[in-house]
Amino acid sequence: MAALLVGVATAGALAAAADPGETATARYFASIRDQPSLLLAFLAEMPKGGDLHNHLTGAVYAESYLRWAAEDNLCLATATMTIVAATCDAADGRPPVADVLRNATLFSQAIDAMSMRHWNRTLNGHDHFFAAFDKFGPPSDKTGDMLAEVAARAAAERVSYLELMLSPNGTAARQRGRTAGWDPDLGRLRERLLADGFQDVVAEARRRIDVAEARQRDLLRCGEKVDAAACGVSIRYIAQAGRAGVPEQVFAQLLAGFEIGMQDPRFVGVNLVQPEDDPTAVRDFSLHMAMLDFLHGKYPGVRIALHAGELVEGLVPPEALRFHIRASLRTGHARRIGHAGGVMYEDDALGLLREMAANRVLVEVALSSNDLILGIKGARHPLSMFLKYGVPVALVTDDAGVARSTMTLEFRKAVEEHALDYRTLKRMVRNSLEYSFADESMKRRLRSGLEEAFKVFERRTGRGLVTRALGTGDSGTKDQRRPTTNDQRPTTKDQRPNK
Ligand SMILES: [Zn+2]
Repeated sequence: MAALLVGVATAGALAAAADPGETATARYFASIRDQPSLLLAFLAEMPKGGDLHNHLTGAVYAESYLRWAAEDNLCLATATMTIVAATCDAADGRPPVADVLRNATLFSQAIDAMSMRHWNRTLNGHDHFFAAFDKFGPPSDKTGDMLAEVAARAAAERVSYLELMLSPNGTAARQRGRTAGWDPDLGRLRERLLADGFQDVVAEARRRIDVAEARQRDLLRCGEKVDAAACGVSIRYIAQAGRAGVPEQVFAQLLAGFEIGMQDPRFVGVNLVQPEDDPTAVRDFSLHMAMLDFLHGKYPGVRIALHAGELVEGLVPPEALRFHIRASLRTGHARRIGHAGGVMYEDDALGLLREMAANRVLVEVALSSNDLILGIKGARHPLSMFLKYGVPVALVTDDAGVARSTMTLEFRKAVEEHALDYRTLKRMVRNSLEYSFADESMKRRLRSGLEEAFKVFERRTGRGLVTRALGTGDSGTKDQRRPTTNDQRPTTKDQRPNK
């Protein structure tokens, strides 16, 4: 008994010993949260763990696509601001992109068309957002260059892990689906696809990632004497299938994703992409869930994350708002939900929140994306409900290039619009690794790297910046009576989410 008490006391002492850095940092954070400049500096330096919801194509900034297009002698179709491979002819509305880079007005118009920069918020952001992806043209196949860009950006903003969504050989998979045709007997359809050289699609997808990763390493000069920080960013992939296609194509793409996931440890899951409100996506929603249910039975080791509840009132008829998240969990076997901005429209929404909490289903919260595409922001965003009901959450970028955002800016949004405190942010950062689909050994490594990074960050922030911000030589005595578990500024309109 005595030995047990000693053990408990030692553990308690260790916890207390580990705490001062966090406490001082939380206090410093509370003191600067209303000062935008200091808040930005703080968040830029804060370790952020992983970005679990990141579409590689949408993560790249339009400037890069234009630069690569110029290098490859491509043209810009100015009527739609789309990069095209053609014979360039300025008089016919297709100037070389190299000339666009020298024309400040046209360059600026192209960036605005290819992203949400300068977007007029009274107009339809949803369509403009999704239309951007069609404008990137051939440069969006430069997967290696794209990987190098996102890895470098991640390292610069203290993100150590990326789970990137892409379709490495999507065109071929869709083509196989079209050739096979539709068969409502999914077992038979799978057999038909697999019997017809489907492994070639999988092998080619894996080969393309090999090539892309080699290019990425070359560009970042990984393995050379001065190894870029970006080389240390761990990357895993989620195979995506477009949900707006005809059923046989959706199924073939999903099948490719599950097959790749079985064969290649770099591919850790599958997801359905394209607008959830697309008429075909709405019509076939339950069919897609049945496909996932079937494929999950065949490939139980491949994890599933799903976009669900990326919806808002008026975007679709009320009936479509009532069940997508619940069905994605129960039938689609999703371990993580992307967005869930429309969670409160679901039948028995509070019951659903409890179910997500009980099953430890994480919500990937994309604040900029939800604001720009759906107009959901501030108190209308259900983030506070997730926190209140104990649903695990992590902040994600979704499409940082299109949204003109970064992980740091997503954190700022969470603080400014949702009044999150330091410890809540830190918990979300830890979630971003805990709920990643990385294998256990990678997770262990990332976890210990993160805790080490937090220690360094909190030591520096707690000791140095606190002193300066409070204008006192003693960072530990000021405001000592404030509860350390509640490092919020005192506020009259308390929109702070409960924990
Ligand atoms: Zn997404």
